[in-house]
Amino acid sequence: MAKKIVAGNWKMNKNLQEGIELAQGLKDALAADKPNCEVIICTPFIHLAKVSDLLDHKTIKLGAENCADKASGAYTGEVSAEMVKSTGAEYVILGHSERREYYNETPAILKEKVDLALANGLKVIFCIGESLKQREANEQEAVCKAELEGSVFHLSAEQFANIVIAYEPIWAIGTGKTATAEQAEEIHSYIRSVIAKKYGDKVAADTSILYGGSCKASNAPELFAKPDIDGGLIGGASLKVADFKGIIDAWK
Ligand code: PEP
Repeated sequence: MAKKIVAGNWKMNKNLQEGIELAQGLKDALAADKPNCEVIICTPFIHLAKVSDLLDHKTIKLGAENCADKASGAYTGEVSAEMVKSTGAEYVILGHSERREYYNETPAILKEKVDLALANGLKVIFCIGESLKQREANEQEAVCKAELEGSVFHLSAEQFANIVIAYEPIWAIGTGKTATAEQAEEIHSYIRSVIAKKYGDKVAADTSILYGGSCKASNAPELFAKPDIDGGLIGGASLKVADFKGIIDAWK
């Protein structure tokens, strides 16, 4: 069965001191009230080492928001998968629509990043999802399938066990517009069927497929009640302990 997960994506928010305060606050809140799911926080690179030191990794896992598509060397400003792993992080988000759109990350580049992340022992939260234009043209299934084929379907079944999928309709990210639970379930179920076709029913059933896009404490219970929604990737609502904890509590 797929693991239930709530993962935060801080994006480019919080300076070091603010990030430590947020991580400490979440640690305290979850020590007092144990979560019923795996909790992950994905932070900017600069927070990773310090936040790693303060976390109880049994209760809160740590992830990065990106890594380089090269292993090491003369790539000024880049941070490698090996470096991410050395901080104590277990996860890395790859394929986020903001990276695809603003930093021109193509399926081929993402494939390199996925390979390097896995080779360095990181698990990958791989994001897929359609734009509003694509949704209006009813292309969401084709888009999601192509994004999987372009960057993760070259993996062996054994490697694919380290991939978490995050379905994030671009039109719902940071806009306050959430996909309805029915809309999300429909595409999640399709994504699972595509994984089943490629890797078989067992791998598909074991793959966590998260929903992302304006998920909050108020809509998380309805979304997470759907059979193919295994949790959420949370942007804005991961930046305050109470908001994020409210979503984590949806698994109770
Ligand atoms: C995201 O960007 O991963 C995300 C889901 O953002 P938000 O929750 O703010 O819509």
